[in-house]
Amino acid sequence: MLLDWFHRCARDYPWRRTRDPYAILVSEVMLQQTRLAVVLGKGYYQRFMDAFPTVTALAQAEEQGLLRVWEGLGYYRRARMLQSTAIAVCERHHGRFPTEENELLALPGIGPYTAAALRSFAFDLPSPLVDGNVMRVLSRLYDDVTPIDTSSGIRLCWLRADHMLDREHPRLFNSALMELGQRICKVGVPHCLDCPVSSFCRSHQPENLPVKVKRMAITDVVERAVWVLKNADQLLLHRESGNRRNGLWRLPQRSEDVTRSREILLEMNYGITRYRVRLLVYEGSEIKPEEGDEWIGLADLESYPMAAPYRKALRSLMDCSR
Ligand code: SF4
Repeated sequence: MLLDWFHRCARDYPWRRTRDPYAILVSEVMLQQTRLAVVLGKGYYQRFMDAFPTVTALAQAEEQGLLRVWEGLGYYRRARMLQSTAIAVCERHHGRFPTEENELLALPGIGPYTAAALRSFAFDLPSPLVDGNVMRVLSRLYDDVTPIDTSSGIRLCWLRADHMLDREHPRLFNSALMELGQRICKVGVPHCLDCPVSSFCRSHQPENLPVKVKRMAITDVVERAVWVLKNADQLLLHRESGNRRNGLWRLPQRSEDVTRSREILLEMNYGITRYRVRLLVYEGSEIKPEEGDEWIGLADLESYPMAAPYRKALRSLMDCSR
């Protein structure tokens, strides 16, 4: 029933037209923290595959070029990890992805979910696959109130997905179960009248499932950045270090003491993980470069990789200064 429905209604995604494990890995990593509408609709997937069409091309990519192509997707650690996986595949397996779960799990950046996705989608091997959509479907099918963000809830979902898996058609089955969660058994009120597996479903109040225990606390922070020009054709930028945005560029930040009496040129809000950020950009004449700051020609700004909020702020300020 589920596969019949999928044969009739499956959506056509580029990664479903291929068995290339590299192309499937790229899609899986992008979709980990970015919505499908963004990955596909804004052309990120295609742009990445055009820039780095093979695992070897990604393994050999320059860091700045890689970050520039990833720009706008956020969570830049994913791009670096993807490259580490590509390098390991080239060095350990001569550019060919292994099929065994233990060999996949030994690669950097590959956890149980990604290993199962590669095994089932690329190699059509019988590995169950559980993402947020599948968890919701399973909670409702079994009318189970075990919280899905606890280790027992997660374990139960994987056991059920394994029990339910169509071992003759793992690739199709896993795709179908995920798509059922995306389109029919949706967050909030599901479309039970259109559901191909409704005769198996035990849920009476599916809109109350799945249950979760954790709520993420949101923290407010203020970022104070400065807009410093030299000779009207160079802008002071700062190269970030640390885990999250290492290698990306942004406007330099200064303390509240330094910026207090300066004019605010731009104010913008954005969210990242558990932070709600208020970005203030101040007029920065006579501010001197500090460690990590560099003068960059205005004509070259577009080639420097930058987190999306800073790119937006920069473009807005450039428009105002013209
Ligand atoms: S019948 Fe409704 S709640 Fe049950 S799996 Fe289908 S869409 Fe989800």
